[in-house]
Amino acid sequence: MALVVCKFGGTSVGGAERLRAVAQRLVDRKLAGDRVVAVVSAMGDVTDDLVALAQNITDDPAEREMDMLLATGEQVTISLLAMAIHAIGYKAISFTGPQVGIVTDSGHTKAKIQEVRADRVSTALDAGMIVIVAGFQGVTPDGQITTLGRGGSDTTAIAIAAGIGADVCEILTDVDGVYTADPRVVPAAHKLDVVSYEEMLEMAATGAKVLQLRAVEFARNHGVVIHCRSSFNDMPGTIVREVDDSMEQAIISGVTHDTSEAKVTIRDVPDRPGVAAIVFSYMADANVNVDMIVQNVSEEGMTDISFTTPKEDLARAKRAADEVVTELGARLWSVDESIAKVSLVGAGMKTHPGVAAKMFSTLADAGVNLDMISTSSIRVSCVIDGVHVERAVQALHTSFGLDSDSVTAEMSPASGKGA
Ligand code: ASP
Ligand code: MG
Repeated sequence: MALVVCKFGGTSVGGAERLRAVAQRLVDRKLAGDRVVAVVSAMGDVTDDLVALAQNITDDPAEREMDMLLATGEQVTISLLAMAIHAIGYKAISFTGPQVGIVTDSGHTKAKIQEVRADRVSTALDAGMIVIVAGFQGVTPDGQITTLGRGGSDTTAIAIAAGIGADVCEILTDVDGVYTADPRVVPAAHKLDVVSYEEMLEMAATGAKVLQLRAVEFARNHGVVIHCRSSFNDMPGTIVREVDDSMEQAIISGVTHDTSEAKVTIRDVPDRPGVAAIVFSYMADANVNVDMIVQNVSEEGMTDISFTTPKEDLARAKRAADEVVTELGARLWSVDESIAKVSLVGAGMKTHPGVAAKMFSTLADAGVNLDMISTSSIRVSCVIDGVHVERAVQALHTSFGLDSDSVTAEMSPASGKGA
């Protein structure tokens, strides 16, 4: 008997038929002897539709009221799912985030969980219920409804799993697990069986969309084992957990890409101490997230500073860049919105030198120019021209031996028949 939290995303609960299938799946788990908590997202595109409704009223809605609005989406799903379980003859009860004590700070639309008082969940489980919890929402200590940021239901699920000491938190979604690359870009990509928290964090931070970065952070901090799998079949997916450093790990686990960032360059900045501090304090004050930074070699006491930032922060970055140019007497700023970032992630990199060199030569052979480079102990990322992103990802996937043919060739008994 296991204690499991199962999180279903919007696509998996997007309509009556799918809700009935989810209900059946939860009942099957219960019949198999597990204690089951479900965390659900809003149905289909409901959250997007709610955002659009607000935008029809005003382009500057109060964040508190946005949270009041957005939190309704998940409340629809929980009640309908409870009804679907009742309809097949089993006991279930739905709760909102506030009802189960997901206590957050007051950062409306991107609140952070401070505490989970999950006794209400445990009591309902003890009473033999399947417990259904609304994802994405919480409450401040003084009773304001908050939401956790887009995609936040993953974080709710992990937080509940941590709060009740679940054996596993299953994230059930419309893909089969974590892949070595986006299968829409690399048809030869294959599913990974196990990924360490640190690899998953790097993958989520560099473009893998299957799990929310914050949720993985929360899971690592609380030791929650994640099983990321399909809601449409029973196949095992990918386990995300602590992987002991003493175990042999793949040099490269995956190739990720991200086209959601833009590059900002401030030109002809005086090259003297304190200049970078000024540039990036302006950006920080404007709430601009900065990813990679490059400072060019200095010529005649002047230099260029480039950095990448999410496109959603770009309007603020441009305003801050105006101020920087005036303050520093720089020449001008420019923006390139057509960049892409490709990254290689793998825990085995720590003990295998030469990954970066091989990555650069692979990209060179593919005729892809490198614009910026950054590394961590288990990741190498390159910023390139966005038009080459698919070619770059495919070339790296092949050259690092990740194409599924090379894997099945070793493992499948049928491979000798030339099939
Ligand atoms: N419904 C929310 C969203 O679409 C939360 C979630 O799906 O995780 O962002
Ligand atoms: Mg959603």
